[in-house]
Formats: sequence, C-alpha cells, structure tokens
Amino acid sequence: MNSLIFGPNGSGKGTQGSLVKQKFNLAHIESGAIFRQHIGQGTDLGKKAKEYIDRGELVPDEITIPMVLETLKEKGSGGWLLDGFPRNIVQAKKLWEALNEAGMKIDYVVEILLPRQVAKNRIMGRRLCVNDPNHPNNIFIDAIKPDGDKCRVCGGELKTRADDQDEAAIDKRHDIYYDDKTGTLAAAYFYKDLAGKEGFKYIDLDGEGSIDSIKDTLLKQLV
Ligand code: AMP
Repeated sequence: MNSLIFGPNGSGKGTQGSLVKQKFNLAHIESGAIFRQHIGQGTDLGKKAKEYIDRGELVPDEITIPMVLETLKEKGSGGWLLDGFPRNIVQAKKLWEALNEAGMKIDYVVEILLPRQVAKNRIMGRRLCVNDPNHPNNIFIDAIKPDGDKCRVCGGELKTRADDQDEAAIDKRHDIYYDDKTGTLAAAYFYKDLAGKEGFKYIDLDGEGSIDSIKDTLLKQLV
C-alpha cells in the first residue's frame, strides 16, 4: 500500500502517520526526519538544508526532490507512507512524474482537515509533564485540560516547549501549509483532482476529534 498524508503542524499528522505505518507495515518516509538524519551525520546535504530549516523555510526543491525520490526508490518497494512531502505544487508534480516513471501506484491520500486557528492553539496550548512527556495536557483542548496548573494524569509540574511558544515560527509554517495556490494545500488538491481519474482514494479526515476517534475513522477508510 502506498500513501501520502497531509496535515498542518498541530493536526496530529505524525501520530496518525505512525499508526498507519505500523498497521500496514509501511516504510515511513518523512522528509523532515531524513533532513534531521543528514544534519546529525554532518553530510553536505545536511549542512545546506540546516540553513533553511533553522529559518523555518522550505529547503529548496533542487535538494529536497532528489533526496526524497532516492529514498523512495531505496526503501519503498514494500509499500510506503510519504509524510512531509510534497510540500508545494512543484514537488507534487515531480512526485507524480517520478511515480509514473517507476510504475508505482498511489492507493490513498489522506488530508487531515483542521482550521488554522485551531492548529495554532493546539501547538501553543501544549504542556509537557515533567514526569512523563506522554501525559497529554493542553490548555486549549477540553478533553485534556490540565488540572489547574498541574498534569491531569499524575499531578506533576507542567512546562512548555520553547518552539511551541514561538508564534512567528508557527505562523510561518502555517503560511506555507495553508497556501492553496502554490503551497502544501495546493499539492494536496493536485492529488485530490487526480484521485477520481487515476483510481486512488482521497480521504478528508476531520482533525478536530480525539486521537483515538480520528484513528478509528481513518482505519475504517483504509480497506
Ligand atoms: P518537519 O519535520 O516535516 O516539520 O520538517 C522540518 C523542516 O524540514 C521543515 O520546516 C523544512 O525546513 C524542511 N522540510 C521538510 N520537508 C520538506 C519538503 N518537502 N520541502 C522542503 N523542505 C522540507
């Protein structure tokens, strides 16, 4: 099974992507993670990419597109979930060309729908429990509101992650995501247009529920 997943920062895309990957035993090809790996290893590509990543900008297509397509060839033969790519319309078209050339088919494209302000609140409202980072706490989500200023699960101290509070950085990422002319939504809609004609399924997934309810809805549609 070959799939693409789209969703803004704050939509739970990473969580849902991991669940799908596990369930269908797919290669999870995540452009951001590949960049982080290169940066960690100090490769030339990593050094070039880091400049852009640190500024919150997209890494240029000349670097990103060959890197992802190469990874897809190397690791994708048993089914893949592409996450974080394509991020703009140029990447979307190049991917489509490359898949056709390689004779690879897409089965599903998932778009997690979440209004921009909700996505932003989710990020800025996130609180981390000092005892366990997996204790969910968010001051803007009723189901997981902290208990006063303490962790709702264990009563531990809560703190924020610095990058969650950087409003300008969040806005910059969302500007790219929600741009439906040339940005990430344009890439998603490129595939939405193709879905009927090319025989793959495009799933609009409401991102406003809980992780579990979103997961259940998604898994029911992936059959
Ligand atoms: P992510 O982990 O998906 O948030 O990606 C981290 C950073 O890597 C992004 O902010 C971009 O700078 C860069 N990046 C990831 N995927 C892409 C892509 N498809 N095109 C360009 N830059 C990307």
